[in-house]
Amino acid sequence: MDKQDSIYVAGHRGLVGSAILRKLEREGYRNLIYRSSSELDLRDSRQTMAFFQEHSIDYVFLAAAKVGGIAANNEYPADFIRDNLMIQTNVIEAAYRTNVKKLLFLGSTCIYPKLAPQPLKEEYLLTGELEPTNEPYAIAKIAGIKMCQSYNRQYGTRFISAMPTNMYGPNDNFNLHTSHVLPALIRKFHEAKENRLPSVEVWGTGNPRREFLHSDDLAEACLFLMNHYEDSEIVNIGVGEDISIRELAEKIRDIVGYDGDIVFNPSIPDGTPRKLVDVAKINRLGWKAKIGLDNGLRSVYDAFRQDDLVKQ
Ligand code: GDP
Repeated sequence: MDKQDSIYVAGHRGLVGSAILRKLEREGYRNLIYRSSSELDLRDSRQTMAFFQEHSIDYVFLAAAKVGGIAANNEYPADFIRDNLMIQTNVIEAAYRTNVKKLLFLGSTCIYPKLAPQPLKEEYLLTGELEPTNEPYAIAKIAGIKMCQSYNRQYGTRFISAMPTNMYGPNDNFNLHTSHVLPALIRKFHEAKENRLPSVEVWGTGNPRREFLHSDDLAEACLFLMNHYEDSEIVNIGVGEDISIRELAEKIRDIVGYDGDIVFNPSIPDGTPRKLVDVAKINRLGWKAKIGLDNGLRSVYDAFRQDDLVKQ
């Protein structure tokens, strides 16, 4: 990417897209294009095509998606499969038709089989059954990968796909009903401390293990891949280490400074037991995560507290 190339960040208000946009701005890219979903509904193929035709876009970061935690995936499975299939189909097709030079499609590690060996290597894709709690979302993401690969094969496009592990960072979703575990626990422990509650409920058994990648690290990896990776095969983005939900809860409790109890609720599903990605491929290509979980959590909690003060 040259500094004057026109670069479209789809999903710039979300956790991932906003981090990519900040990184591009910091690196001096000058011709950045973005639209909120009320200005451009990517589920609408006509609007999407018209937007691409109007703007002569060189590069696309496809970070627009309907995302959510375990409860949201369970409650709105139709929305997750439909919206994601529509958004990615419209953007990929429009990018092909308007001769976009390169597109980066962002998937997720839930594309890997529920019981795949750990750490998850890229070649485990489509070797077994998916985790049922987010299967519709995962199927949409797998379709996106296959679309990119098929367009490359048939039309000679350069559409690459990256699979980030669980992420956190600024602009995360802190809504307890729809969020992922890390922002949910920050909010729960913070509110329990403020309101002097005796305990905090953590869903599931606390035994599942998850890996957490800061969105600034992810953004750096995305720019790195856009500039250096050409292959159709997927690439994992992660830190290469995971922790249990119990350990995460204890860490967040300490950072927040809450001294009540943690109560697990095993009647809520655990989801997949573990999803640690193998990062050997991206490390070999020359990129490594830099932000440790303790520092990342502290910075996210500081930002959350600032927002909370502003709201009061
Ligand atoms: P997943 O990684 O796709 O399973 O999505 P989540 O981030 O929503 O959940 C990760 C794990 O954290 C699951 O085992 C959840 O049951 C567990 N968990 C514990 N407490 C919470 C919570 O308050 N919210 C969410 N979303 N997950 C929680």
